[in-house]
Amino acid sequence: MADKLAWIGEELQALRDAGLYNHIRTLGSPQGAWLQVDGQRVLNFCSNNYLGLANHPRLLAAAEEAMRKYGLGPAAVRSIAGTMDLHVELDKRMAAFKGVEAAITLQSGFTANLAVLPALVDKEDAIFSDELNHASIIDGSRLSGATIVRYKHCDPADLQRVLAERRGEFRRALVVTDGVFSMDGDVAPLPEIYAVTSKADAILMVDDAHGEGVLGKGGRGIVDHFDLHGKVDVEVGTFSKAFGVVGGVVAGNARIVEWLRQRGRPFLFSSAMTVPDVAACLAAVDLLEESNELVERLWANTEFFKKEMQALGFDTGKSVTPITPVMLGDEQLAQKFSKAMFEAGVFAMAIAFPTVPRGTARLRVMISAAHSTSDLEHGLQAFADVGRKLGVIS
Ligand SMILES: *Cc1c(COP(=O)(O)O)cnc(C)c1O
Repeated sequence: MADKLAWIGEELQALRDAGLYNHIRTLGSPQGAWLQVDGQRVLNFCSNNYLGLANHPRLLAAAEEAMRKYGLGPAAVRSIAGTMDLHVELDKRMAAFKGVEAAITLQSGFTANLAVLPALVDKEDAIFSDELNHASIIDGSRLSGATIVRYKHCDPADLQRVLAERRGEFRRALVVTDGVFSMDGDVAPLPEIYAVTSKADAILMVDDAHGEGVLGKGGRGIVDHFDLHGKVDVEVGTFSKAFGVVGGVVAGNARIVEWLRQRGRPFLFSSAMTVPDVAACLAAVDLLEESNELVERLWANTEFFKKEMQALGFDTGKSVTPITPVMLGDEQLAQKFSKAMFEAGVFAMAIAFPTVPRGTARLRVMISAAHSTSDLEHGLQAFADVGRKLGVIS
């Protein structure tokens, strides 16, 4: 009999041959400036732990205390018996933190996008989507059944063009963009996108996963950064990046949030965030509301690192955020560079096609408030040594 799964082996081999196979490294330590990776101590330039909260004592203590009172799991979806007072508190605290009417928390940023898009649009409608939007926006858009119309990356004039051409064919329209784009570290021109969207009678949605805890006053996100309060209808966010935990949030218009309690499928059919996660997120909101210190350190570290990398002769692309691509171009060179950095004790991922277009391979450095100046200097020295050895800089 034929092996009905033989195709998987062939596909996996094709990935290996093309240098596109995902080799997954294993951590043996908490998240922080330094990691134990595959048994080696390395400087961490890979994580989304922007503020160093993933192993913060205040978050750990809050999680422990809550577990003693509430146990571990919610044991139900939120709409049946899985909503504890802790969940309601986090919903409210996030609404206040983001400066919006209401918020609702879910299991992850990914499921938040799967909840929002199909709840707001369907077959008779259209989604106007930045061509580089995150996979979870793409999947949520497909699930909705709406027609997907892509516009050029961060290009409000192209958005205006496609809205003018196609808006009339559809009942409802929704415009969606990532706030910060995770591979280049550029930021969506949200004021211009808002101006175009509001004239086209369309809902405006932004995914602020890499903006929360990073942009805006004390990390309140992209809407605060551009002072667009009340103008963006719905924001999706995550607790897995700057917040250092795991979970998702939808924040914005109160009617949208109420509608998601009735029609958000991951809210209705997948269990709530766990107790320690919710409690740790509440502690993270406390920390951010008390002080801007971590956000300021993140930005000071970012400016220092980028300036020094540019002085060494590296191209850091079009990033305006702590996401720092080190542009190399060639896929093989990026792999070789990443490997040499790891041997020098620095963990920085190579990112290549299909995650980014062919010929734009890069190392992606994720800066964190957890890095000390001497950590960053250590990383810069490794970049200088490897860059010269591989002929990237002179
Ligand atoms: C990381 C990310 C997500 C997914 O968030 P999780 O909470 O990890 O599921 C969604 N959207 C964007 C833009 C992201 O960068």
